[in-house]
Amino acid sequence: MTLTLVERPSPNHAARAADPVDILVLHYTELPLKESLDILSDDKREGRVSAHYVLDLDGTAYRLVPEGRTAWHAGRSYWRGREALNATSIGIEIVNLHGDRHDYPPAQVSALIELCTGILSRHPAIEPRNVVGHSDIAPQRKIDPGRRFPWKTLAEAGIGLWPRPGARPLDGDFQAGLQRFGYTPPIAVPPREIVKAFQRRFRPAQVDGMADPETRARLAGLLDPLGGAL
Ligand SMILES: [Zn+2]
Repeated sequence: MTLTLVERPSPNHAARAADPVDILVLHYTELPLKESLDILSDDKREGRVSAHYVLDLDGTAYRLVPEGRTAWHAGRSYWRGREALNATSIGIEIVNLHGDRHDYPPAQVSALIELCTGILSRHPAIEPRNVVGHSDIAPQRKIDPGRRFPWKTLAEAGIGLWPRPGARPLDGDFQAGLQRFGYTPPIAVPPREIVKAFQRRFRPAQVDGMADPETRARLAGLLDPLGGAL
């Protein structure tokens, strides 16, 4: 399959910082295509926003901002000890009215895999652990791309991580484990909201903020294979 890419430039971008691009952030739009493109290209509204790509339901990708420029999609954000991640990330907005309620159509998922594969090949500093959802980097504010997002399918295609099955539940301080993986410390964010963000992505059947044995096993199934890399 060859990705259909449509140029649809947005004026909302800035120069990159000196650091390499090493994070890929996935979002859902919560709005249909046209409204999404309009908002992400609006240079009059207060709090201008944008993304590098918008991916429609049928798998058509719209390029709004060149990958070499900073787009404004992450907002206040944190991952692996760093904040304000726009400067070093690429953002994809995926058309979906609410990823907790609507599945992502197969044509959209295969186009997303192709789009992400290209991005990862152009930016080798984006390691698997740095492919994240907006909810991972802003757990107090965001729930996108939602509980129905196909993280496991993406991981099987080499994009991001999925827990190794059958891991022994993580012992000890669960928040410390979450921080080892990349999540924010529970300072400005209530601890339970961070657990919910983790579950939303890795244990979508139970998003209640309780670190039960299965939730602990899923975190262990992510951390164990990373081993000394942490
Ligand atoms: Zn978002």
